[in-house]
Amino acid sequence: MTSDILVIGGGPAGMFAAITAARDGADVVLLERNDRLGKKLLITGKGRCNVTNDCTAEEVLQNTPRNGRFLYSAMTAFPPEKTKAFFEGCGCPLKTERGNRVFPVSDKAGSILDCLKRELKNASVTVRTGRVTELLTREGKIYGARADGETYYARGVILAAGGASYPATGSTGDGYALAQSVGHTIVLPQGSLVPLETAGEDCQRMQGLSLRNVGVKLISAKGKLLYKDFGELLFTHFGVSGPTVLSASCHLKGEACRLVLDLKPALDEGKLDARILRDLDMYQNRSMENALMDLLPRSMIPVVLDRLNISHDLQANSLTKQARHGLVQLLKAFPIEITGKRPVEEAIITSGGVKVSEVDPKTMASKKAEGLFFAGEILDCDAYTGGFNLQIAWATAFAAGKAAAEKTSIDKCASLY
Ligand SMILES: Cc1cc2nc3c(=O)[nH]c(=O)nc-3n(C[C@H](O)[C@H](O)[C@H](O)COP(=O)(O)OP(=O)(O)OC[C@H]3O[C@@H](n4cnc5c(N)ncnc54)[C@H](O)[C@@H]3O)c2cc1C
Repeated sequence: MTSDILVIGGGPAGMFAAITAARDGADVVLLERNDRLGKKLLITGKGRCNVTNDCTAEEVLQNTPRNGRFLYSAMTAFPPEKTKAFFEGCGCPLKTERGNRVFPVSDKAGSILDCLKRELKNASVTVRTGRVTELLTREGKIYGARADGETYYARGVILAAGGASYPATGSTGDGYALAQSVGHTIVLPQGSLVPLETAGEDCQRMQGLSLRNVGVKLISAKGKLLYKDFGELLFTHFGVSGPTVLSASCHLKGEACRLVLDLKPALDEGKLDARILRDLDMYQNRSMENALMDLLPRSMIPVVLDRLNISHDLQANSLTKQARHGLVQLLKAFPIEITGKRPVEEAIITSGGVKVSEVDPKTMASKKAEGLFFAGEILDCDAYTGGFNLQIAWATAFAAGKAAAEKTSIDKCASLY
């Protein structure tokens, strides 16, 4: 099969790159290994798809801890307002929620996918099923790819095969091997926006407990503050999860780290001490385990008492001043030793991938193989939650789609002479 442009991967980046190139006049084939497009897109935002963030290009980059500067040109050319205009212009109304997170009004990721599928059809993109296993090159130039025994010839190839997280959706890291085969360096793929594993049994003892308003600090082994947040945290059978933990995971670089929780962020130490004194006075004849019921969630009390070596049965009016101060300090700085991240398969996003210094930031063109372009999660860029990762997919896909269409039209003109 022959086309101007072959797009590998039918996720958000691949679909949008294909639409962009086809709207610019290119004849485009989109190859997806699954029998349907956008499998991962359908599970984004818990099935609601947080499609972008209603903020400026600059703010997207501020929320992209890994290689945000590389995205400057692409994000300026296609900022969140253009993403919103595209979907609303294609008949998918959007709404903005807390934290400027943008969702379809329908609350269904399917509405975003339907919109992309409609536009693929309107732009006459040919969609095929096939798993690409080889890029075809001659003298450093890409001229197609092979998938399931079939050869696809093209003047330009956009590689948008995603990362390595949630492999059941089709993103198994194939794109890395394909990029590597034509000379690209792959920065070790690791999970980002991923739950964290912890030492000891304390988190397991509290599994299922979700804390809503908690202060979270991530501290390196050398005592450096790596990340600070406020919000939700969940204890699980392996450690910790929840929005604050997922964001903190972006800053974990393999060394031993500690999370330090402020369990009572609304109270300073003095006010917390006064509050504890009140409770101890009110429940003076009860055991410590019962006296702390108003202050802490039930499953946390035994863990806190054990950490302070306070007997669960100790009568509240027998607690020493020193032990009470220890309690205040523990609740203001509750340490949790982190032993590592959960595997990349469980991550929302893959950190690592195609090294960005080998890619032109304006066009997403490979600096290693002529005619090859990249889009989406395959690149070594990743952001926090909030719609920023899909915004990276739209912006890089737009850059790649435009540039690939332009290149192929120039190539076609040149071949006429
Ligand atoms: C549970 C979950 C929730 C998320 N929620 C959000 C959210 O609400 N907002 C947000 O901004 N981001 C969210 N993300 C991140 C977001 O899904 C990704 O940033 C985005 O999907 C990346 O798009 P992509 O097209 O680059 O890759 P993918 O979506 O991974 O698509 C790549 C496609 O390529 C195909 N493919 C792979 N190898 C081959 C091959 N060899 N041949 C042919 N095809 C191939 C795959 O089957 C896949 O369809 C979420 C991620 C997860 C896992």
